[in-house]
Amino acid sequence: MAEAQAGTKRLNDLQTMVSLAKRRGLVFQSSEIYGGLNSCWDYGPLGAQLKMNVKRAWWNAMTRREDIVGLDASILMHPTVWKASGHVDGFSDPLVDCKTCKTRFRSDNTESYLQRKECPNCGGKDLTEPRQFNLMFKTHMGPAEDAASVVYLRPETAQGIFVNFENVRESSRRKLPFGIAQIGKSFRNEITPGNFIFRTREFEQMEMQYFVKPGTDSDWYEKWKKTRWQFFLDLGIREENLRFHDHGPKELAHYAKAAVDVQYQFPFGWQELEGVHNRSDFDLTQHMKFSNKKLEYFDEATKEKFVPYVIETAVGCDRLVLVVLCDAYREEVSIDEETGKPDTRVVLGFHPELAPTKAAVLPLSKKQELADPSMRLRDRLAREFDVAYDETGSIGKRYRRQDEIGTPYCITMDFESLNDQKVTVRHRDTMKQDRISIEQVENYLRDGLRAFHVR
Ligand code: ATP
Repeated sequence: MAEAQAGTKRLNDLQTMVSLAKRRGLVFQSSEIYGGLNSCWDYGPLGAQLKMNVKRAWWNAMTRREDIVGLDASILMHPTVWKASGHVDGFSDPLVDCKTCKTRFRSDNTESYLQRKECPNCGGKDLTEPRQFNLMFKTHMGPAEDAASVVYLRPETAQGIFVNFENVRESSRRKLPFGIAQIGKSFRNEITPGNFIFRTREFEQMEMQYFVKPGTDSDWYEKWKKTRWQFFLDLGIREENLRFHDHGPKELAHYAKAAVDVQYQFPFGWQELEGVHNRSDFDLTQHMKFSNKKLEYFDEATKEKFVPYVIETAVGCDRLVLVVLCDAYREEVSIDEETGKPDTRVVLGFHPELAPTKAAVLPLSKKQELADPSMRLRDRLAREFDVAYDETGSIGKRYRRQDEIGTPYCITMDFESLNDQKVTVRHRDTMKQDRISIEQVENYLRDGLRAFHVR
């Protein structure tokens, strides 16, 4: 088809992504057949794969460093952990009720409230005073539902790392500076969840705590800011959609000496994607106090004993998936030169490392003589790559289907393939086609995926 490029449109409303995500099996509303559960989402076949790729990229970027090791701590922890961390007494947001429309909202996040003290929903001015609402989910351990059996679903993964500091240091024979990285679920009873998977009550975090000698913390904080910025660029996130937001003295959490957010320009505005924090020696000191265990570090070289400082990097996995989706989305509008009509191609231009499917094998016809060798090729490629197979619909439609889920390569087998043992490889971004030998497909994909950066 002869096409002339008429322009590219980026994502400008979240609803377009919510619909695409549902239609193509990326993300579904949780418990949808029962009317859904507010703020909870399920990852479908392609979404689960995408999320796994995001986690793998982060995990490798962290734990393949010589100075970082991994951990997988449990969600339920000793309740005193949350006393020591300050969460029982202080992990709360100011909650306001509108007496007119009964909307509940978080008053520190709502512009209409902050500026004019009016309800963000109905504009009403009859509001309750803000009262602190603790965001931790409470449950009970064991059969008795009494005060002694209360446990919490962790609101952050970091505490699992702090309480294991000594176990990890000793067992892995680490010297400062070193880090501990962890991926896992966290739970917060958010007052106003929303914006799809941006803010939910159950979510996954990817956190790394880097333990350093006091006095070197400011340098490490700066280094980690740069490293994390580069990580997002390496994933193909467009730099113009990223910025730093430094926390002023009023924004700083009680434990923090310095903090910065990496923000992303979502369709609903600039919002936090990741936090990089200098947590000082707050957490280890608190856990020493509450547990009566020594969590100090002895520096063999200088014979000094001290409580390490911690630089933390904390990013939401689901939030990063949303960034990857929003950033990858584009609509290419072209004019079909034969019909003169505009035609829109929707593409998710994922970095290939993140793409849920790396290649799709498409027999030109469903006939057995083509379907059989195509399926054999699919099975062969699946030993090394995440691949798909699709034999239904016109080849043009099948290409578009793969574009919309971000598959970098389509491999088409036609009747000529049976004679020349070659297939056509079509590129997602350029739509360029190459005819290559069937034997060479793995090499071609390997090279192509490595060199890939067209967006
Ligand atoms: P906020 O002030 O927006 O509630 P926060 O600053 O308390 O968030 P952190 O405690 O620093 O967030 O959490 C680290 C990261 O975890 C955030 O940058 C974000 O990516 C992710 N995150 C936090 N809360 C949620 C949530 N409710 N849903 C999804 N991701 C979240």
